[in-house]
Amino acid sequence: MFDALFLEQAGQMAKLVCLPDDALPAEEVTVRVHWSGLNYKDALAVTGRGPVVRNWPMVPGIDFAGVVEHSASPDFSVGQEVILNGWGVGEKHWGGFAQKACVPGAWLQPLPQGLSGQQAMALGTAGFTAMLSVQALVREGVEPVHGPVLVTGATGGVGSVAVMLLAQMGYEVVAVTGRLEEQAYLHQLGATEVLARSHFEMPSRPLEKARWAGAVDVVGGQVLASVCASMKPQGVVAACGLAGGMDFPATVAPFILRGVTLVGIDSVMCPQPVRRQAWARLAEQVNKTLLAGLTRVIPLPDVPALATELLDGKVRGRIVVEVP
Ligand code: NDP
Repeated sequence: MFDALFLEQAGQMAKLVCLPDDALPAEEVTVRVHWSGLNYKDALAVTGRGPVVRNWPMVPGIDFAGVVEHSASPDFSVGQEVILNGWGVGEKHWGGFAQKACVPGAWLQPLPQGLSGQQAMALGTAGFTAMLSVQALVREGVEPVHGPVLVTGATGGVGSVAVMLLAQMGYEVVAVTGRLEEQAYLHQLGATEVLARSHFEMPSRPLEKARWAGAVDVVGGQVLASVCASMKPQGVVAACGLAGGMDFPATVAPFILRGVTLVGIDSVMCPQPVRRQAWARLAEQVNKTLLAGLTRVIPLPDVPALATELLDGKVRGRIVVEVP
């Protein structure tokens, strides 16, 4: 038997239940989960507030770290420490908010060297997405000398890690937040300036004053449109989220008159080689003390309550779920 958060149908709050081992999907590798992370998508799934889950019933949890308990994959052996994020786990396939998960070996990767399971999930899907976004800016040629880089939704999971990574890489980071009372936290992560989200929520002109060399946007909607309108010539925006909306009320002006590049970030189906390289970079680059400072650890039964708080914009940084 194993404990799991369980969703029977759409619109429900997940409940903690005890399931028999043979309820697990029949896949190659069974993992004893020790840590998971609470991401925005998890919060939507757990509370039933968003259409994240595509198969029912579902065990949510889009990422996890644990130890291989049984393996029919030549790539993983019993006792090996592994992590998983994405691939539709917690959406289409049973996920990490459980003591056990059973998944294809192709979705797993060894725990990155230099990270504990807890640290890997302190980063989790959010940290991984922040790294993919930062790598996109670098790949598209944004350098610290080109000017400031903006991070929206800066006090959230993706935002906090993006601020921390960019600052460590020598970029001047301007954090955008709806919570100006968190300025000290953002400065501690390395932001040089903190701006109110409200500046970006008003409809923007097609082109605003050119200010940012790069941007990581987790908000979408009007905020993303305003960010694009205020990019410097040849600026690069990595769009990875929709915390403020799915729409994109923009014009083509920044793209055709300033050569701005909009790069989409998808962590879910990111190919394994890119995935492993991004995790290796995270393991090397992340300041473990700052990471611990932006992380709160909660037990599995507290996930539904914290998921509600996260969607209400009351959670700062990352939440790691300890699975007993
Ligand atoms: P969090 O809830 O931790 O952070 C989101 C932040 O966005 C909040 O902290 C808040 O920051 C801001 N925010 C919240 N609500 C609103 C709103 N209504 N309008 C504007 N800003 C808002 O979530 P994550 O960091 O885990 O995820 C952020 C986004 O990125 C989500 O949309 C998520 O789905 C997406 N994502 C995408 C991935 C991909 O593969 N593309 C992978 C992971 C996440 P503040 O208070 O500082 O303004």
